[in-house]
Amino acid sequence: MKTFIRVVLPFLISIRLFFYAIIKLNKQELSYWIMMLSAIIIFIIGLVQYSRRSKKCKKCGQWNAMHVVEKELVKETPTHKIKTLKDTNKEGKVIRTREVTVPATKYTYHIYEQCSFCSEIKDYITDETVEN
Ligand SMILES: [Zn+2]
Repeated sequence: MKTFIRVVLPFLISIRLFFYAIIKLNKQELSYWIMMLSAIIIFIIGLVQYSRRSKKCKKCGQWNAMHVVEKELVKETPTHKIKTLKDTNKEGKVIRTREVTVPATKYTYHIYEQCSFCSEIKDYITDETVEN
């Protein structure tokens, strides 16, 4: 319910305002711009709340609580990455796209996160592939 009010609702309201402004109002009117601006502001509020929600502590339920305390490199694995190259002509127009395989390294990290409110620790493994 908290998630619905703080995260989903701002997105719904902003999308509704946005379409209402586009469909119903003449672009010359001030109310169009006010409505558009409100849609954008409410949308940003939704984004901020979404990011706070993603850092929620599972134990105490506080939002924006988890922060990284340690990032430990577990292993490095040689791998490859698929890269899309775009060939352009003299005018800068894309005439052909092709996929090439480039060498890369996969870094595996063990991440430790701690809650700012109750000190609960959460850990997880994550991968990051970086082109050599
Ligand atoms: Zn907590």
